[in-house]
Amino acid sequence: MLVTGANGYVASWLVKRLLERGFDVHGTVRDPRDPSKTGHLRAMARDLPGTLSLFRADLLDPGGFDGAMAGCPLVFHTASPLIVRDVDDPVRDLIEPATRGTRHVLEAADRTQAVQRVVLTSSIVAIYGDAVDLEQIEANRFDESHWNTTSHEGHQPYSYSKALSERLAWKMVAEQARWDLVVVNPGLVLGPGLSRNTNAEGVLIMRDLGNGAHRVGAPELDFAIVDVRDVAEGHLQAGLIPEAEGRHILVSETRSLIEIAATLRDRFGDGFPLPRRTVPNPMAIGYAPLGGIPRAVAKRNVGYPLRFENARARTRLGITFRPVEETVTSHFQQLLNDGLVSAPRRSGSAARGRG
Ligand code: NAP
Repeated sequence: MLVTGANGYVASWLVKRLLERGFDVHGTVRDPRDPSKTGHLRAMARDLPGTLSLFRADLLDPGGFDGAMAGCPLVFHTASPLIVRDVDDPVRDLIEPATRGTRHVLEAADRTQAVQRVVLTSSIVAIYGDAVDLEQIEANRFDESHWNTTSHEGHQPYSYSKALSERLAWKMVAEQARWDLVVVNPGLVLGPGLSRNTNAEGVLIMRDLGNGAHRVGAPELDFAIVDVRDVAEGHLQAGLIPEAEGRHILVSETRSLIEIAATLRDRFGDGFPLPRRTVPNPMAIGYAPLGGIPRAVAKRNVGYPLRFENARARTRLGITFRPVEETVTSHFQQLLNDGLVSAPRRSGSAARGRG
């Protein structure tokens, strides 16, 4: 089977699970010879029953995925640029690679007789644009029937890139009959990564939190969180369960930054510059650009609750979501071990954590 973007934060766990099960995995990466990107994959392949072959492929290259896809009945398309802050050129950096990449991968599936199923890594941001959108939802909870209709090139371009890509995939699957499409829509992915080399948004949020970016107070902002290991499991089941179909929200629970900080303080002690209070919404909105978030985005998200229905993933894919507390503490511990979060100067016990 094929995993595109095999070195990514999410895909690395998926590759690990596939290798544990003894599958022969083809993985695409942009530079297979870069050990900082692929060393962890090659090391895990040495220890696990499956086999791993890495191929070079760029999302912008129309024929780039054919070689890697040859002979693969199952394709996991995870590769997509993930930039949320300080986007330079939304079309060039997000929308084009995401949508053209999806087109190129699915056109390769059309040409590859072996392919029977494509699992697409979409996102909850293909389901909603901003938290304020929840006010329009009668059930007061987003589910798989909802689509992001509020993002565009100039507002939430990453979300727009994911919504466009998923819509394109549903259009392309309907134009042929050999392969089917199963979509997973993860929330904010947190939890321990398998390589240090990641700028995934969740890693940046946890790093900033631990290093004091919100020491004077955190915005009233909700995150719909899911553990990276549960996201890998969701992909695996979406690929392997024959009856799987449609979209699947992968979210454990929603937590605010203050709640995440409280969990971390409980587990790691008082030594870290974690926020204790919420800053007033007008102030949070006013200062948002300093953290790379446009004011218009802050205005439509700060102070608005976020809720998701995850029953489909639980019942159809059999996912038991890890509690958020387990996810954030194991993630934070890894960032500490890797030196991405600075240990507090005074208390050694706080730096090591309790228990
Ligand atoms: P990640 O670690 O940044 O992985 C993204 C992958 O996409 C990397 O392998 C990256 O390759 C590849 N990629 C980006 N641009 C590419 C291009 N032009 N050509 C070829 N490959 C390219 O982020 P992740 O969190 O694992 O994200 C994986 C998928 O999950 C994405 O589709 C993302 O939208 C989705 N997702 C993520 C989250 C989250 O919170 N992390 C939530 C919902 C959905 P390089 O390493 O070479 O850059």
